Amino acid sequence: MIDYTGLQYKKVLVLGLAKSGVAAAELLHELGAFVTVNDAKPFDANPAAQSLLAKGITVICGRHPEDLLDEGFELIVKNPGIPYSNPIIADAINRELPVITEMELAYLVSEAPFIGITGSNGKTTTTTLLFEMLEYGQKQPLIAGNIGTVACSVASEATKEQVLVTELSSFQLMGTRAFKPHIAILTNIYEAHLDYHSSFEEYAEAKFAVTRNQDGQDYFIYNAQQPIVVAYAAKSKAQRIPFTTSGRAAEGISADATSIYWQGEYLLDRSSIVLPGEHNLQNILCAVAAALLMGCPIDAMKDVLATFTGVKHRTQFVRNWQGVQIYNDSKATNCLATKSALTAFSQPIVLLAGGLDRGHSFEELRDVMGNVKAVVTFGETGSRFIEFAKSCGVEQTVAATNVEDAVMYAAKLVTAGDVMLLSPACASWDQYASFEIRGDLFIDAVMKLT
Ligand code: ADP
Repeated sequence: MIDYTGLQYKKVLVLGLAKSGVAAAELLHELGAFVTVNDAKPFDANPAAQSLLAKGITVICGRHPEDLLDEGFELIVKNPGIPYSNPIIADAINRELPVITEMELAYLVSEAPFIGITGSNGKTTTTTLLFEMLEYGQKQPLIAGNIGTVACSVASEATKEQVLVTELSSFQLMGTRAFKPHIAILTNIYEAHLDYHSSFEEYAEAKFAVTRNQDGQDYFIYNAQQPIVVAYAAKSKAQRIPFTTSGRAAEGISADATSIYWQGEYLLDRSSIVLPGEHNLQNILCAVAAALLMGCPIDAMKDVLATFTGVKHRTQFVRNWQGVQIYNDSKATNCLATKSALTAFSQPIVLLAGGLDRGHSFEELRDVMGNVKAVVTFGETGSRFIEFAKSCGVEQTVAATNVEDAVMYAAKLVTAGDVMLLSPACASWDQYASFEIRGDLFIDAVMKLT
């Protein structure tokens, strides 16, 4: 087993050169390790490899040589996207070489404590909210992982007084060995990402890796409303902080219709919270619990909750136009996410939906279509979504050509007191390069409404 603390003079292989691979290679090089990077992309078309070579790092590009591991590496840092079935990784495991991800490397070299946030949904919202609370409460947080900076680029400079708030995908957690966040948060587990993981069990195991190495000095904040999470949480050695939105609870953090409670005691009022929806309330409970454990003043949390309108493209409040509340939920690329958004509002909703056709059904939304008074569709699934909406009893339906066109139609269908919601239930790639571009076009069109 390698001694992670002494990386100087160690022979390390960094496999895969996305942003995280580059940051890992640079950090290892600074720490005095002998670094080799290997990336499938040819050198001529690989600016990252070129810049690493210029720094004196050994670069092997354009292929993954079969005998690469004969070089005698002592540690492999792999890009989270490279599966464990990859021949070099399989070979490394066979040779009992430690294989870690960039996040774990960041953890190993950092003096600052880590907060690790994972789950199928709600990671970005919870991470951002917690970061803002800690920043407002002057706790000098740094944000890294799936959002923000690559963890390796900030880890070595972070001081003991700071805290690294990290958003973790299951890819980043799989195979972690020593990763031990001081606070771990598991928002929920849904059947997702099964294309990368071989089974739901493997996916769930990867999520639970967030608490695997924790001990009694650490905290595990988890969803008490999901039996599978509760069953796994029982095995955690950390101090357990369950969260629930189904009423005041004696343990952990909980909420009822009016207030949030900490260990059964009143903590704060829900009335000034801006972020809509039950799912966001769960994210809020996670963030508040972690902020409390980090000693963040309650007033700082309240101020953030009173102004936080959502992360861009995630049930994000855009504007109030003639008494209509307009929200951008372009990140909702599947029915589960759109379901969360639709349940967040009690007002009549004019829903803008549609996009890439993967042949998936919209049946999962049937139960939550009750408040939808009109539907405006766009993209490949437009006509199928209209058929579905009609079968749910939605009387007004319009097929638009794109998201901007859809805003024009929706503006004619709304009346004061309604919600206009972009929550497509489909990926964007039939018409737009990303959900961000789709959401930005929606915002632009909405801001132009007079
Ligand atoms: P992630 O980073 O895990 O993808 P986000 O915070 O970006 O999660 O939210 C993505 C979408 O998932 C949101 O638009 C919302 O519809 C849904 N969502 C967010 N939080 C939750 C939650 N706690 N439970 C269920 N769905 C959620």
